Amino acid sequence: MPRVTLSDGSIHDLDRGLPLAEAMPDEAVCARVDGRLVDLAWPVEGDVNAEPVLSSEEEGLNVLRHSTAHVMAQAVCDLYPGTKYAIGPPINDGFYYDFELPESLNLDDLERIETRMREIVAANQPFLREELDRDAALERFADQPFKREIIETAEAEEGALGDRFSLYRNDGWADLCLGPHVPTTARLGAFKLLSVAGAYWRGDERRPQLQRVYGTVWPSGQELEAYLRRREEAERRDHRKLGRQLDLFSFPDELGMGLAIWHPRGGILRKQLEDFVRDLHVTRGYDPVFSPHIARSVLWETSGHLAKFAELMYPAMDGETARYFVKPMNCPFHVLIYKSRGRSYRELPMRLQELGTVYRQERAGTLHGLLRTRGMTTEDAHIICTEDQLIDELLAVFDLTLEIQRTFGFTDPVVNLSTKPGLAIGDEAMWARATEALRSALDKSGLDYTVAEGEGAFYGPKVDFHFHDAIGRLWQLTTIQCDFALPERFDMEYTGEDNHRHRPVMIHRAILGTLERFVGVLTEHHAGAFPLWLAPEQIRFVPIADRHASAAESQAVSMRERGLRVGVDASRETVQKKIREAQLMRIPYTIVLGDREIEAGTLSVRDRSASEVRGVPVAPFVDAAVEEAASRALDGVDLASLAGGSRPAAT
Ligand SMILES: [Zn+2]
Ligand SMILES: [Zn+2]
Repeated sequence: MPRVTLSDGSIHDLDRGLPLAEAMPDEAVCARVDGRLVDLAWPVEGDVNAEPVLSSEEEGLNVLRHSTAHVMAQAVCDLYPGTKYAIGPPINDGFYYDFELPESLNLDDLERIETRMREIVAANQPFLREELDRDAALERFADQPFKREIIETAEAEEGALGDRFSLYRNDGWADLCLGPHVPTTARLGAFKLLSVAGAYWRGDERRPQLQRVYGTVWPSGQELEAYLRRREEAERRDHRKLGRQLDLFSFPDELGMGLAIWHPRGGILRKQLEDFVRDLHVTRGYDPVFSPHIARSVLWETSGHLAKFAELMYPAMDGETARYFVKPMNCPFHVLIYKSRGRSYRELPMRLQELGTVYRQERAGTLHGLLRTRGMTTEDAHIICTEDQLIDELLAVFDLTLEIQRTFGFTDPVVNLSTKPGLAIGDEAMWARATEALRSALDKSGLDYTVAEGEGAFYGPKVDFHFHDAIGRLWQLTTIQCDFALPERFDMEYTGEDNHRHRPVMIHRAILGTLERFVGVLTEHHAGAFPLWLAPEQIRFVPIADRHASAAESQAVSMRERGLRVGVDASRETVQKKIREAQLMRIPYTIVLGDREIEAGTLSVRDRSASEVRGVPVAPFVDAAVEEAASRALDGVDLASLAGGSRPAAT
């Protein structure tokens, strides 16, 4: 009699061929046998060690998500005869399924589909696994061209089944799938369909356009509710929406996808950001440099970009005497600065910083506002140093990272060390040395970190810093790479103390990542209410009547002389409407000016919490605002205490 030993040590003797479910607790969604996930219906033929997988773990949740995707596709096929279904994987927070349908789906259709899904759930249909050979599988999906293409193009050695294909069916509906799934449709948790979008078959713009239906599913209704609230909050903070509302940037169609223009309000915000990082780098011993946007192909051949990165590069431009490429990275230019003359060990470490604009043909489907663009300015620097200096330089970069990110309110990083990827230049020994350097620096720094195997850049391993935003989402913001390969490829050298030639090492690092992405993240983190030093318009005067406009303007002029960015809303709108407009624009301080204020020589100031404080004396307010901006404070001035402790008036 086969014996099933569970991870908790309990032992279950089952009759041969009985399903593993017999030995599992009720709450298991599937099981792990020898490190592999299997269905609970998996027949036990011999002694095994098994572990229940619960929907509270990531893998179990993925099984729940993917099983729900099956049921959604089943419901769509029931409701829309002739549906061709493509693929339906689990994703972060949910699942999707791609369909080719005779009509386009709208939100009402999603409700219909959801209703049908609930019927399938109520019918408690088991997910049944079958294995077929290639011909039988093709036959089975005779009217499903996407499934047939998957079967036809699958390599025989692909997957654990050799030239066999597994499918799962419940009721009459079947899908080609490796599994596992929950045992029956009744085991799906709390789900909701969310949206529908266009997607190309296999992500290829030349292939059929499909409709992608997104949904989410959670083990309990409570978790679903919590997720929907988080999602709503994220939507409220969406930087694309706020970018329009705050007039920061746009993506005109005429430019092409993924290319942004920065409007005046976005421009001043970006300048603040640029000045801050550039100046700070100068005080930390970095030298600002500049390089052009294009370079001859020979540069990209030497750097390895044409061999390993060509897919993301814009096509070549043929000039009069040479072929040019638009730069996807700044590194080779900095190498050329280093190589512009012979170098001595006395010049190292050399730290070159550039806010370098690069262009990458990111796939259309992956573009997302400022978070993923095709033209972006990297907050880039390269440190060229001796191998002896490497650890100290890395430690200094970690320090600078923490300091810069703290300024924006990002603390407690989640740190990853990413090792050699499949596609890489440089030999194993080089990778080992570079990885070891990063590891020792991390160990020395006292930072907690985890190792992500195979996630490094093609020219070297890297350390990533991720930070949580205001609603708990994790963003990768900082990347630090250690590179022995480019110095080799470009034959970089320095003369050592011993008068011999030596090879330097290179650190690539982008603390803010790209300015585009960073501003996108920052916009969502602050929900558009930027700290004063970054706010495009810091103070706005709202004169009560026309006759107050000149007093407002003269006060604004003297505040501008103190370096503050001050606007005056002299439009003919009502005061209430002007105040509302200022709130919508997330203006940190809105000052209403009328007879009473002019007479008293004080201000009525509202901060972004919308509470108004009257009787704020002018000079102390201006001093406090100047100080708030200069110190890059994250919190605003305490208006009530400036006004002598009077309570804010309710609005
Ligand atoms: Zn499946
Ligand atoms: Zn670089």
